[in-house]
Amino acid sequence: MPLDNAERTQLLTPSATLAIDARAKSMKAEGLDVVGFGAGEPDFDTPEHIKAAAMGSLDAGFTKYTPSSGIPELRTAISEKLKADNNLSYDPSQIIVTCGAKHACFNAILATVNPGDEVLIPAPYWLSYPEMVRIAGGEPVIVPTKAENGYKLTPELFREYMSPMTKLVIINSPGNPTGSVYSENELAALAEVALDEEIYILSDEIYEKLVYDDVKHSSIASFSKDVYNLTLTVNGFSKPYAMTGWRLGYVAAPVALAKAIDSIQSHSTSHPTSFAQKGALAAYRGPQDCVKEMVKEYDKRRRRFCDLLGLIPKLSFVKPQGAFYILVNISKTGMNSTEFAEKLLEKERVAVVPGKAFGDDSTVRVSYATSIDQIEEGVRRIAKFCK
Ligand SMILES: *Cc1c(COP(=O)(O)O)cnc(C)c1O
Repeated sequence: MPLDNAERTQLLTPSATLAIDARAKSMKAEGLDVVGFGAGEPDFDTPEHIKAAAMGSLDAGFTKYTPSSGIPELRTAISEKLKADNNLSYDPSQIIVTCGAKHACFNAILATVNPGDEVLIPAPYWLSYPEMVRIAGGEPVIVPTKAENGYKLTPELFREYMSPMTKLVIINSPGNPTGSVYSENELAALAEVALDEEIYILSDEIYEKLVYDDVKHSSIASFSKDVYNLTLTVNGFSKPYAMTGWRLGYVAAPVALAKAIDSIQSHSTSHPTSFAQKGALAAYRGPQDCVKEMVKEYDKRRRRFCDLLGLIPKLSFVKPQGAFYILVNISKTGMNSTEFAEKLLEKERVAVVPGKAFGDDSTVRVSYATSIDQIEEGVRRIAKFCK
């Protein structure tokens, strides 16, 4: 047998964001003053009561294997949260706690996609979706959306890009990198197409809590029993509770799919870390003002960032209503996204993520998970660079 890597690994592309990120970090390490807008995670620390719960459970010796789908009290807390916040009725047995929402998406894709199946992914997309589909042997079908439509998938585009091989569509609202939030009506129109054609829906709702301007998040699975039966709802703790390093998320699904996902997980990671699950339990059972405070702060930064970016003639953007990113159109600079990001880092020492990584080479992503001071300084440098 030839000793080469498995074919599924040869289909993967290394993350373009990592190269620039590594460069930015090494410049920082050299003592250079780099403004970082590349972050894909909250800059806040995990709230104290959540840390205390995990530490307490460690002290109490909660250090053994747990059930593969997660500890029962956490699955119950998630079930109650989904009912209260999202009007979703999932029995705890339909919820699988995973090692992050990323892992929840991965499990969901492995449980639904056969080799050769097509998966619709609206672009700009979160960069892991196409790779996950490839690992499952599926075919990612990228659906380009337009800034005029707020970078959202429309029923027309859905129908245009689907085929008899389409098994799954991925909807991420609020979205990374777009900051777009689908309205209830927009989601209902997409759900109708999925129902007509019997296509599964992966609804990645990790940024649910991070919405602004009185925009309302809707969960597509709550619309009807039929939509519910087609939907895998993904959520987690990383973004709302600043718990990225804890690796805790979950997927909720119809009974048969939930069983399949549990099976996959039981033979791979077994389960998420025992004491981290106790932290997540405290996150859902404890006070929620920590989330409100972080959202308030993100909103302040978002508004300041947008106001300042709006003054740069060569740049344009759709004002984000969720998450903590702004997707900035750079086509008037005459550069592609990699060129823009590399030169901006070299000349002005500002790190941004080239949109190429998200399937849109005419944009770069900036993150406002950083201080107002950094935002002001960074935009000043971007303005200078664009001149
Ligand atoms: C950050 C992110 C996730 C996953 O976060 P985890 O840390 O794995 O919980 C999932 N989807 C999107 C769109 C994200 O931006």
